[in-house]
Amino acid sequence: MPRQLSFVQQIQKLYKGKNIDAAVSLQKSVLGSEDLIISVNKKTAVGKRGTKSSKGMVPESTLQYFLELGLNIQELESSNMEESVEEIQEKLSPEASFANIIENLEKYSTEKKEVILSNKSKLLSILKTYSPIKKDNYEFGLSLNLRPNRRLIAFEWNDRKRVREYSQRPDFPNLWECRACYRIYKRLSTPGVVRIHECSERVARPHLYYVSDIVFLPDEHSCKPMDYLLVMHYQKLLHEGNVPGARSMRQKINFIYGECDFA
Ligand SMILES: [Zn+2]
Repeated sequence: MPRQLSFVQQIQKLYKGKNIDAAVSLQKSVLGSEDLIISVNKKTAVGKRGTKSSKGMVPESTLQYFLELGLNIQELESSNMEESVEEIQEKLSPEASFANIIENLEKYSTEKKEVILSNKSKLLSILKTYSPIKKDNYEFGLSLNLRPNRRLIAFEWNDRKRVREYSQRPDFPNLWECRACYRIYKRLSTPGVVRIHECSERVARPHLYYVSDIVFLPDEHSCKPMDYLLVMHYQKLLHEGNVPGARSMRQKINFIYGECDFA
């Protein structure tokens, strides 16, 4: 469909030139029905014509929605292409990891050293299967009913593009449960489905530990992480008090990293 394809390219060009008004009005003038599907060719390199690696189907309504949200398509594209990590953190033994936390305490926790030392045995046991992340690798967010600190959004290990979203367990305040995995778990544990036994439940319901003001990510985690930029845009809507907007963003856009890709 060459006509629609060039339309998308036109939009993206306008967008790149920061000509957002023109992009929006062009999109509005060309758009017919909401459910029209267009095909977008994915390029392996920017600016190179004909280097197509795969074909993705992007609903035109999604493109329009992105423009309405003010989400920068170019930013999302480049976010999906780069694979940079500023600092590679190695997985250390529990003892070495604990020593590293003590040595760089202000990067991990606001607690005093004595508090961390008094929790040493508990932390060592957590460190067997969990890894500590520094404070700039996670933040707290709002829930859909705008309650603060109800979400913990954490970057993946050695990854500044993918995040997972956790919520605190009321029964175990030190445990924050992965939201995506919890949804899967709930589906599986509904009546009529064979109950998951305790051992596999640990795999099916990954948590992070939040102990002594330190966040520990689980080493084993299999759900697909989400795109940081999308999750943060969703949080921005919540911070503006725009609950319907946030809810509709969740419904319309797939937050999983790389699955909203139309580069
Ligand atoms: Zn998960």
